[in-house]
Amino acid sequence: MNKIYFYFRILSIIILFLTISPNLFSQQEINLVEGVLIDYDKCGFFYDDEKNSYTSSINNWGYSYDSLLADLEIWKLSPYVKIDSIGLSVMGRPLWRLTISDDPENILDKRTVHVHARTHPQETEGFWVTDEMIKILLSESPEAQAIRETCVYYIIPMYNPDGVELGYPRENANHVDIESNWNTFPHQPEVAALKASFIELMSSPKPIEVALNIHSSSLCKRYFVYHDSGGTSSTFTLLEQDFIEGIRSYYPSGIEPWYYFISWVNGTPLQYPESWFWINHGENVIALTYEDMNCTSAGNYDLTANALIRGVMDYMGIVTGVNDFAEFVPEKFELYQNYPNPFNPSTVISWQSSIDSWQTLKLYDVLGNEVATLFNEHKPAGVYEIEFNPINLSSGVYFYRLSIGDYFETKKMIYQK
Ligand SMILES: [Zn+2]
Repeated sequence: MNKIYFYFRILSIIILFLTISPNLFSQQEINLVEGVLIDYDKCGFFYDDEKNSYTSSINNWGYSYDSLLADLEIWKLSPYVKIDSIGLSVMGRPLWRLTISDDPENILDKRTVHVHARTHPQETEGFWVTDEMIKILLSESPEAQAIRETCVYYIIPMYNPDGVELGYPRENANHVDIESNWNTFPHQPEVAALKASFIELMSSPKPIEVALNIHSSSLCKRYFVYHDSGGTSSTFTLLEQDFIEGIRSYYPSGIEPWYYFISWVNGTPLQYPESWFWINHGENVIALTYEDMNCTSAGNYDLTANALIRGVMDYMGIVTGVNDFAEFVPEKFELYQNYPNPFNPSTVISWQSSIDSWQTLKLYDVLGNEVATLFNEHKPAGVYEIEFNPINLSSGVYFYRLSIGDYFETKKMIYQK
């Protein structure tokens, strides 16, 4: 085996805690096996050619424009909120925005986070996550106080109020999807208002550092839409990985790894809000879509909101104090499918262990010959990840096998030169 040299390095030993859904990689595996992306959009919906519409499975979205008006009345009682509107919808409804900070009238020295939700009316779960974020940010906990002292959060809880009221699953009153028409001119009024607001905030002394675009997906998973280096840069992908895994470290059993949903593999599609940030501000802004679950298993909005806020603050280097979830450890073993697969030149292999033990990861060829030892260390319970970057390895099928105590699991990978 020494004839073949392997260079691999530990990308990051991510101490994550809790369990991970066993079906974590099913979607990605299908994509990879077929070599093409399934025709879902990033929210997990697909266009039904026969019905000439997006699939829609939910009749009662449960949170109307009136519900928002009622909540605005409650939120505005807080001394930490200022409420204004960034503009009007097609039908003239204000696009309400919360400005949250310790003194929301005086935010010029505060570091800026932006959140907008409910672009797609049927994705109510994205609103419930946002609602929990608002609750956390307005609370009197020491962490919330620390955040408000340092930061300002701009939050638009309902970016498409007309669509909500008209019962359109994804569009505004002009039947335009305002998520994916940022490069269509003239702009829809909602797009024009949000873009103008972004431009204003980006030219302020403390421009937006993190911009979250909150949706929910019929794929019934919680995940970030990760932008490949093909449409961004390798530096940006490392920032994205750091950001996503940081958030996930607070809710590893609920949020998928960074590579669950990859987009922008062949360039930057121009139509999205995130494209605008990337083209105009590059690596200065982490602008990402977060997808909550759009299905009956949705829930845990408070856990998700907590993870989002703590992860964002960690990414920005803002110390908020207590980590509520630091005591958790994975409840079971799991070896994950490598990503990408097939691969060239490198791939990432990750796994989790529920015990402190020796962890050994070996590579075998199709004849069962051991080709290399990729990892062999005594480690505490946690989630681990390595990048495998083979040198002088023949193209073909290989198997990687993880052993921890009595636990063994093997998965297949394909190396393509
Ligand atoms: Zn959506």
